[in-house]
Amino acid sequence: MDSIFMKIIRREIPAAIEYEDDDVIAIKDINPIAPIHILIIPKKFIPTVNDIAEADAPLIGKLFLVAKRLAADKGVAEGGYRLVMNVGKDGGQTVFHLHLHLIAGKKLGHETI
Ligand code: AMP
Repeated sequence: MDSIFMKIIRREIPAAIEYEDDDVIAIKDINPIAPIHILIIPKKFIPTVNDIAEADAPLIGKLFLVAKRLAADKGVAEGGYRLVMNVGKDGGQTVFHLHLHLIAGKKLGHETI
């Protein structure tokens, strides 16, 4: 029940925090693929989309509300951005603590993350 993101939430390792509240933390991706690359992470440890419970629905919705707010704050809401959630090994997931990528700041093609 631990992950690198839990360590960031507990301030055991550093991160560039873009947003935080009781439920969610958003940090700059350490290996960005675009000028804006932020990870929106629930503080509750949920490994993958496969582990989302019915009761988590408001929390998952909140990830998108935070993404929307950050996109507006960064000035990319109108121009557009990409939200990505990789699921499992074949889906490209490398950190098994559910997170939403907010990617923006350039014209996006078919990059994989
Ligand atoms: P995924 O491959 O979808 O699981 O995404 C994991 C993301 O976490 C990758 O884009 C990594 O660059 C990013 N990442 C891994 N470790 C850290 C860290 N310590 N701080 C910020 N981002 C990280």
